[in-house]
Amino acid sequence: MSVKLEQVAATLGRLRDVFHSGHTLSYEYRLTQLKAIERMFVENQEAIVGAVQKDLGKKHPFEAHCTEYALVLADVRHTMNKLKKWMKPQSVYSPVAIQPVSSYVSKEPLGVCLIMSPWNYPVNLAIVPLIGAIAAGNTALLKLSRHSANVATTLGELCIKYLDSQAVAIEYEGGASMITELIKHKWDHVFFTGSVSVGRIVYEAAAKHLTPVVLELGGKNPVFIDRKVHIPTVARRLAWGKFFNAGQTCVGVDHVYVHKDIEQELIAELKKAVTQFYGENPQTSSSFARIISNHHVKRLAKTFADGEVVIGGQVDEKDAYIAPTVIRNVRADSELLSDEIFGPIMPIIAVDDLIATASEQRHKPSPLATYVFSDDDEVVASIQAKTRSGAFLVNECLIHFTNSNLPFGGVGESGIGKYHGAITFDIFSNARAVVARSTNKILDVPLRYPPYESEKFMD
Ligand code: NAD
Repeated sequence: MSVKLEQVAATLGRLRDVFHSGHTLSYEYRLTQLKAIERMFVENQEAIVGAVQKDLGKKHPFEAHCTEYALVLADVRHTMNKLKKWMKPQSVYSPVAIQPVSSYVSKEPLGVCLIMSPWNYPVNLAIVPLIGAIAAGNTALLKLSRHSANVATTLGELCIKYLDSQAVAIEYEGGASMITELIKHKWDHVFFTGSVSVGRIVYEAAAKHLTPVVLELGGKNPVFIDRKVHIPTVARRLAWGKFFNAGQTCVGVDHVYVHKDIEQELIAELKKAVTQFYGENPQTSSSFARIISNHHVKRLAKTFADGEVVIGGQVDEKDAYIAPTVIRNVRADSELLSDEIFGPIMPIIAVDDLIATASEQRHKPSPLATYVFSDDDEVVASIQAKTRSGAFLVNECLIHFTNSNLPFGGVGESGIGKYHGAITFDIFSNARAVVARSTNKILDVPLRYPPYESEKFMD
């Protein structure tokens, strides 16, 4: 059963008692739980993918399968394969002044973790952190977003069925008031994925207890397109990076700066790409997702008046549909240029100096990703040097998310802390410094003990 508002304190107390009992510490226990997650996915593939499709209306099973099923399964399998190695204490060098000793780093669990996930990739962004928390030996409460109601119920009930309910509690019915209640309490670690504004609320609440946090937030990921590129390829990658999941992707393309000389050609190629991907009427395409709620459809549709719509622009509120849209000549005070768009709308801004435009990014909040399209190494290096973001991709977008060898997350306003692969295990662990030696008298060097008389040094 989903944790109820009035049960939060008692649930936290139970998770703490279970943690202190040592129940979740052994390698065998952690492996059993990870295997249960693997089984949960293998045995319920259809239900999980189906729930995602229902929440993000008409999202193609291929998209849902890749991000919400295959990537999570790959992550749990990778974690199971590496678990023994990650749990092993890591020996480190000891300086001569303290030798002979043995020095090592012991990765130990933090305790009781609170994980809160959003609706846009509602399975992946909930289960990947949970895999890390379990692998590192913690107990956890996972709060699923109610905005993706089908996933919340399906995944919530599956977790309860497959996982050890002594050590993992699931909340899948509450909204903002539940988060408000959860963050009042003292957890040993908080992992939050969501917007910058709610991230601030979570951070403030955690600070009262000095609880460490990982905040995976949002932002405006800019794209810079140089003149020296193969425009049709750029247009296809750009259209994919913007319209995947109907633009509701934290690392999705937000707005595009293009050299003015190629703006028109880029728009023409974007038109071709959109038609190639979704046909003449994207509303009838089986490959284009819907907007999560009516509130967001209205918010997005309002922005069409802020510039010249050159591709798309159609809205069907009843179908939660916003067409893949490209807007140029955007008003300087438009929300499209100040707020995270989080929908299938691509503002294009023609500039004559890409490097100068990149320099101006320093004065804006740092995003999760910066995307550069150029075959000129100097331009790429210059833009990398002048910008700051959680990730930097050259002639590509989004794909870094799938590489578990890369740290994933933001910097500055887009978040605190990174995860994926071995780093997820690390962020849910206390890297404890251990130094050990015996009480053997021979090893008890008298030199360090007072009184510090000079004769001692002469002996
Ligand atoms: P959100 O921050 O609006 O909501 C997250 C959770 O907070 C929800 O469960 C919601 O009920 C709750 N909430 C909302 N207002 C609250 C309040 N005042 N007090 C307490 N809780 C409150 O985010 P969202 O709409 O679920 O997701 C979209 C955002 O998440 C985008 O900004 C996106 O960029 C970001 N995101 C980031 C990543 C990442 O990995 N960095 C991934 C996905 C999404």
